[in-house]
Amino acid sequence: SGYSLGHSVIPMVNKLQDIFAQLGSSSTIDLPQVAVVGSQSSGKSSVLESLVGRDFLPRGSDICTRRPLVLQLVNTPRKGEGAEGSEWGEFLHLPGKRFFDFAAIRREIQAETDREAGGNKGVSDKQIRLKVFSPNVLNITLVDLPGITKVPVGDQPSDIEARIRTMILSYIKHETCIILAVSPANADLSNSDALQMARIADPDGSRTIGVITKLDIMDRGTDARKLLLGHVIPLRLGYIGIVNRSQEDIMYNRSIQDALACEDNFFRSRPVYHGLADRCGISQLAKKLNQILVQHIKAVLPGLKARINSQMVSVVKELATYGEVTESKAGQGALLLNILTKYSEAFSSMVEGKNEEMSTS
Ligand code: GDP
Ligand code: MG
Repeated sequence: SGYSLGHSVIPMVNKLQDIFAQLGSSSTIDLPQVAVVGSQSSGKSSVLESLVGRDFLPRGSDICTRRPLVLQLVNTPRKGEGAEGSEWGEFLHLPGKRFFDFAAIRREIQAETDREAGGNKGVSDKQIRLKVFSPNVLNITLVDLPGITKVPVGDQPSDIEARIRTMILSYIKHETCIILAVSPANADLSNSDALQMARIADPDGSRTIGVITKLDIMDRGTDARKLLLGHVIPLRLGYIGIVNRSQEDIMYNRSIQDALACEDNFFRSRPVYHGLADRCGISQLAKKLNQILVQHIKAVLPGLKARINSQMVSVVKELATYGEVTESKAGQGALLLNILTKYSEAFSSMVEGKNEEMSTS
C-alpha cells in the first residue's frame, strides 16, 4: 500500500538530509518535508506538537519559535509493554546525547535558540535539527518556522517582516515541500499570511493544506463550516479544522491526551461540524498528510533519483580536486558518496518496481 511505501522511503530521505546538513550543503537537494507557515501565534507549533503527540516545542502568546526547527520523526520498533526509554530525542548539535525527558528537549530548544539568536526576541535562519525516535510516529520530517510579524520588537531589525518572509520562502519554495498553511479561525481568512505565502510558493495549490486553528474561540454565533468547505477561499487539497490547547491549558500543563479528548468532544458536541468529520481534528490532519506525502514522494522519486545521480558526479569531481585533504573531510566525502550510491541504486529499483522488500515492508 501507499503507506508502506512512505514508510520505507522516508528514512532514506532523512539520512540524506542529515549528511548534507553535516557537510554544510543542506540546500543542494530538494527532499520532501512538511513545513508550517502562518502569522505569529496562529498555532503552528501547537499543531506540530499534536501531530507528534508529545510536548516538546516552545509555544505561547509571545514570539517563541525564533529559529527554524527541522524535526525528523523516526519510527522505532515497539518494545515490550511499558518498556522504558522507547521514545527519545537527539539534537544534531549534541550528537549521541539522548533526551528521554521531553521537557528537557523544550529547554534545549530554548537554550539553543538563545545561543544563536540572543535572549531578546531576535530571529535567526540557522536551523536547529532534532530527531524524535518513537514507535508512535510516522517517518516524516517537519519544519517549525518563526511566524510572520509586522512590528519589530526587542532585538529584531527594522526589516523583520521581510526577513521572516524570505526565510519561510526558502523552505516552502521547494517543489518537494508540503505546506501546512495555518490560519486562526478568529481572524478573517482573506487576511491570512499563511495562505498568501503559500500561494506565492505554490500558486496552483498542489501541495498546500489549509489548517484552521482556534475553532473554539471564534466569535459567538459564527462557525468555520464555510472555511472548511473551501467556500471562502478554495484550496485544492482542502482544509482541516483544529482545536489546540489554549494559553490557559499551557499554564496548567494540560496533557496532549487531554487536549485530544477535548478536541474530540468539541467536534462531537457541535452539530454544525457533524457532516464534516473528515475535515475536523488533528487525527484527520495526520491522515491527510500521510496520504499526500506518499503521493508526493511517488511523484518526485524519478526527479530525486536524477538529482542524486548528478550530485554524485559533482561530488566525485570535487573529491578529485581536493588533492591534499584533511582526514575528516575525505571521510565525510567518501561516506556521502557511499550513501548516495547505495540510495541511488535503491531508488532506481524502487522506481522500476523491482525491489519487493522496499514496496512491501
Ligand atoms: P505559533 O506562534 O504559530 O507557533 O503559535 P503557538 O502554537 O505558539 O500558539 C500561540 C498561542 O495560541 C498559544 O498561547 C496557544 O495556546 C494558543 N493557541 C493555539 N492554537 C489554539 C487553539 O486552537 N485554540 C486556543 N484557544 N488557543 C490556541
Ligand atoms: Mg511557533
